[in-house]
Amino acid sequence: MDGRVVVVGGGPGGVLLTYLLARGGVAVTLLEARHDFARRFRGDTLAPGVLEYLDDLGLAGDLLAEVPHRRSDMFRWHTPEKTYELVDYRGASRRFPFYALIPQARFLPWLAARAEAYGAQVRLGARFSSFLSAADGRVTGVEYTVEATTHRLDAALVVGADGRSSKVRAAAGIEATELGASLDLLWFAVERHDDDPAYSGLDLFARPGGTIALLDQGAGEWQVGWSIPAGSYASVREAGVGPLVDAVAAVLPWLAPRLRAALSAVTDLTLLPVRIMTVDSWTRPGLVLIGDAAHVVSPVGGNGINLALADAAELANQLVGPLRAGSSAAAVDEAAGRLESVRRPGVEAEQRRQVRTEQAAAQRNAAGVVGPPTVLRVLTAIPGFSRLAARRSGVTVPAPVPVIAVG
Ligand SMILES: Cc1cc2nc3c(=O)[nH]c(=O)nc-3n(C[C@H](O)[C@H](O)[C@H](O)COP(=O)(O)OP(=O)(O)OC[C@H]3O[C@@H](n4cnc5c(N)ncnc54)[C@H](O)[C@@H]3O)c2cc1C
Repeated sequence: MDGRVVVVGGGPGGVLLTYLLARGGVAVTLLEARHDFARRFRGDTLAPGVLEYLDDLGLAGDLLAEVPHRRSDMFRWHTPEKTYELVDYRGASRRFPFYALIPQARFLPWLAARAEAYGAQVRLGARFSSFLSAADGRVTGVEYTVEATTHRLDAALVVGADGRSSKVRAAAGIEATELGASLDLLWFAVERHDDDPAYSGLDLFARPGGTIALLDQGAGEWQVGWSIPAGSYASVREAGVGPLVDAVAAVLPWLAPRLRAALSAVTDLTLLPVRIMTVDSWTRPGLVLIGDAAHVVSPVGGNGINLALADAAELANQLVGPLRAGSSAAAVDEAAGRLESVRRPGVEAEQRRQVRTEQAAAQRNAAGVVGPPTVLRVLTAIPGFSRLAARRSGVTVPAPVPVIAVG
């Protein structure tokens, strides 16, 4: 079969897949609904295993040299009584003993430009609307709109990488099931000053009823996040910004004046309704889903971006050989189907862990307990636990197949 892959959605999964396919010699078109890659408050945390993978591709050195970012080697939880070192990344990788916090708004255009250099077609402002299908129902392409004009594009395979509310998934009739998230997040960014306290860039602060996150993506600002009980946004909005700023003032007094000056209403904050979601299948004939379209994870742990990138890596490894060999539609479907067999068990194990962690946190918050559960207090007291946790929480990414690795 001779053909082009159409990737719908220019998030981390879609852009990396587009890059890998183009580099592997496969014709590929990326359709991204937005007119640019500008976006805020997304998963910006590249894990050590992902950085190693990008290094195997020869990309990590340039990425870290060219794109401003923050390196964080420790994930800490601060409580009134003490600071817990939850995860210590210093032993997680010999090459990259840290998480790189890089805003997607910088990472995506950087990678998309490299995909185009290998011949990928990147169409911005191009919104998927429906499938083209064969008589037997196999997906054979897409219809998409640019401004008011409808275009059609044939495809050997369509990849739905269009995020948590995937239109591709809905058009394919693939059902999504919520596994039950217990919290939502509110995000805001304030200016960072050179003489601010030196936090790791990945810090959590316990407060009565929830947690405050303080992230630094190397963009000259602090990203501040408040966890709130799932579904409680309306009452938080009604209470106004006062309680939110007061909560920050209690744990980060130096930051509160900046927040007070910049924040006038809860609607100034960005709401992320946390979802943990699974779908009945990642594939249909002629179609495969990756990233958030296939599995939404909680931002707690910051691995939505890493799982999307790992899906893209695995799918590219499966597809490049059959597509370059002009394999039959059935062989392409079989190759795409292997993604789900390889990746789904690990993703679902992570989702089950997240549901348990969030439920336990929600119960502690409702009971007014400030700080980590007893089991974590005990574990973090064991020497070496936080390094072990880094290895256990690490996202594993397959090595690129030689045809992609050598380019
Ligand atoms: C609002 C929001 C806030 C988030 N905040 C955090 C966070 O704080 N911490 C964290 O760890 N994770 C966060 N995440 C999750 C994290 O960003 C994702 O897990 C990660 O980006 C998934 O990558 P992806 O490539 O699967 O999809 P996405 O990054 O969601 O990208 C999907 C892309 O598809 C495009 N698209 C959608 N519909 C169409 C269409 N019809 N046609 C063409 N293109 C289309 C979208 O414009 C988007 O660019 C957030 C996600 C969202 C949506």
